[in-house]
Amino acid sequence: MKIGMKIAIALGLGIKRNAHIFVGLVAGMIVGAVLHTNIINNHNPQITGAIMSILGFIGQAFIRLIQMVVIPLVISAIVIGIASVGDNKQLGKFGTKMVLYYGIITILAVTIGAILVCAFVPGIGVQSFINSQTSADIQAQVAQELTNTKANLLNQFLMFIPKNPLEAIAKGDMIPIILFTLIFSIALAKVGDINRPVVLFFETVFAATMKVTDWIMFFAVPGVFALSATAIADFGMSIFGPISKLLGILIAGFIIQLIVIYPLMMKIFSKVPILTFYSAVAEAMMVAFGTASSSATLPLTMACCERRGISHKVCSFVLPLGATLNMDATALFQTVAVIFLTQAYGVDLGLFQIVQIAVLAIIASSTSAGIPGAGIITIALVLNGLGLTPEQLVIGFAFLMAFERITDMLRTMVNVTSDAVVAAIIADNENEINYDLLNNPESYKEVI
Ligand code: ASP
Repeated sequence: MKIGMKIAIALGLGIKRNAHIFVGLVAGMIVGAVLHTNIINNHNPQITGAIMSILGFIGQAFIRLIQMVVIPLVISAIVIGIASVGDNKQLGKFGTKMVLYYGIITILAVTIGAILVCAFVPGIGVQSFINSQTSADIQAQVAQELTNTKANLLNQFLMFIPKNPLEAIAKGDMIPIILFTLIFSIALAKVGDINRPVVLFFETVFAATMKVTDWIMFFAVPGVFALSATAIADFGMSIFGPISKLLGILIAGFIIQLIVIYPLMMKIFSKVPILTFYSAVAEAMMVAFGTASSSATLPLTMACCERRGISHKVCSFVLPLGATLNMDATALFQTVAVIFLTQAYGVDLGLFQIVQIAVLAIIASSTSAGIPGAGIITIALVLNGLGLTPEQLVIGFAFLMAFERITDMLRTMVNVTSDAVVAAIIADNENEINYDLLNNPESYKEVI
């Protein structure tokens, strides 16, 4: 049997096990399609408006509830992750492997995205929608920028260092929070036994946060239902027509990641059975799709991985960092989207600019928080490298925005899967995986 088919079956089994969430998703899409027709035909505008508001409320409430636990979860997980890894040698190994595997996955993602978008040139179809004067202006501006010094990347890195960690926490700036927590946790590990009260405190915070997460997950079905319904109601199925080529390219890229790159990585670097593993993280994949938020899905990703055999040590170190920094699908999306925009505006790109876009997409994606829409916001950083801003490319952006939520849902699902894949590979390399548990159907009792 072909690997793709096997994975589809494994995912299918995951879906069967979580039929309630899947039903929520599909029902949400159907209701969304009906609402969209009502909106277009102006049928019962008041009732439709009221339903939209209620759905919007439920969806937002679900996202806010899960986001509520993200900061305490990330901080406590990293602290106990690093403190419980204990000896620095092992920590160093985890960290190096994490950077290596996340790096390989993301570089492959942007390469695949760049090849697909250059081969199929989806931007050409949009050229006729754009005023030729605007295109000429944009082309001139890009040319100008390319002769200037490259975008101010150093400044971007400076912002990662929090002047005040509490301010970063209050503002929810994930990268500065993580940077501070990492430094603080390494220091904690270094000071020896005196760290016990603080580590114990964070262990308690972690346990309580996981409990809160369990409670929140009672709302997964209505939450996922409401989120998918509002996405389809806003944008409708018909938007798939004119932009199907771009969407097709993105979906092809995501599928290649899911059914070629990740299985290959697992095969080359570990002996984790890919099908079993995909089935093990199916709930997290579906919730990622429904919430469009890696961070919001993090508690579930951790629960799936931990309850199915990956050690707490690895999960609590690799997954929180992955949920914030490892955004391979977002990087793929940004590469495709920016090259698509340059095609739409008739800007010719050389190999150097394509590589520059890909590199900036890797940086921009890892600065994206794991929340809905983060990738479309940080795309500004990639455009910045070409001397452009999103406002200048309004029409081109309208095409991206039309299906932003749907691609966001897809890229989040892929982002979350790669976090889990890397955690599994590292766990295998470091003997931190319990294969009896992973292969035991009993451990597949519902996580949600
Ligand atoms: N929503 C994505 C995530 O949470 C990030 C993005 O917007 O691409 O993984």
